[in-house]
Amino acid sequence: MIPNIKLNNGVEIPQLGLGVLKMTDGPEVESSVLKALELGYRHIDTAAGYGNEGGVGKAVKASGLKREDIFITTKLANKDQGYDSALKAFDASLKLLQTDYLDLWLIHWPQPMYDQYVDCWKAFIKLYEEKRIRAIGVSNFVPEHLDRIIAETGVVPAVNQIECHPYLTNTPLREYCAKLGIAIEAWSPLMQGGEVLRNELIISLAAKYGKTPAQIVLRWDIEKGNIIFPKSVNEARIKENMGIFDFSLEAPDIAAIDGLNRDFRTGPDPYTFSRR
Ligand code: NAD
Repeated sequence: MIPNIKLNNGVEIPQLGLGVLKMTDGPEVESSVLKALELGYRHIDTAAGYGNEGGVGKAVKASGLKREDIFITTKLANKDQGYDSALKAFDASLKLLQTDYLDLWLIHWPQPMYDQYVDCWKAFIKLYEEKRIRAIGVSNFVPEHLDRIIAETGVVPAVNQIECHPYLTNTPLREYCAKLGIAIEAWSPLMQGGEVLRNELIISLAAKYGKTPAQIVLRWDIEKGNIIFPKSVNEARIKENMGIFDFSLEAPDIAAIDGLNRDFRTGPDPYTFSRR
């Protein structure tokens, strides 16, 4: 029911997953992930920095599904940047996730002020070549960061996970990535439940298509070819967020949603953000 996107190394990733940012480790993340897997989700997006990889690992085990049937992404914490510390952090993430490989590992933020993202990328390449990760990518990278890791290593990331929703369409960066063959993962696709869901145009389209505002916004991502993992701990919403593959938006409606862009960030700026 959920389609796959083929990454630039041939690995397939479900276009919809569950994001687990701000879910507390323990019963909250475990029950949300388990519920999503029961409903048919097969892709989980976590991060070492979310502090809930342990709960994700427990839920995956509890689901009884085969490991190879679930796509697991995690991210290198900002505090662990550097070649050796990245390698160490990788082992710690695997242990918490109770797995011996990752489907996708991302550099969470470039933190250009520390100038360590190229070293991290070299560690990622080593693990990828050792077949301990099926695909490697980055998050919150802008063109100059992408250009630099590619120039210094010759290895193009499989994905760039960036903030993207109708109020921040990030079109120039998405087009830049498309030219390089880098898939886009759109974080905070629902603007963290913010204003976009109360936007007049989105509400009118929800009425037109017989869908909810969240489903309209998520479908817009699917039409753009973005990979998404909206977050919810609420079973009805986890289910609602999957209900986006039985309709499509007409081209003028997609263009109208594109027109909502106001370059509005809910999260930090990749050039200046650093939290260790
Ligand atoms: P989101 O846009 O997915 O919004 C989640 C919030 O929207 C929920 O907490 C809830 O309040 C609301 N919501 C969810 N489903 C809804 C529905 N059907 N109707 C109405 N409201 C609904 O926000 P997010 O969690 O920030 O982003 C999704 C995922 O992206 C994260 O969980 C995480 O995995 C990832 N992410 C990555 C980064 C990064 O730097 N790489 C940053 C932020 C998020």
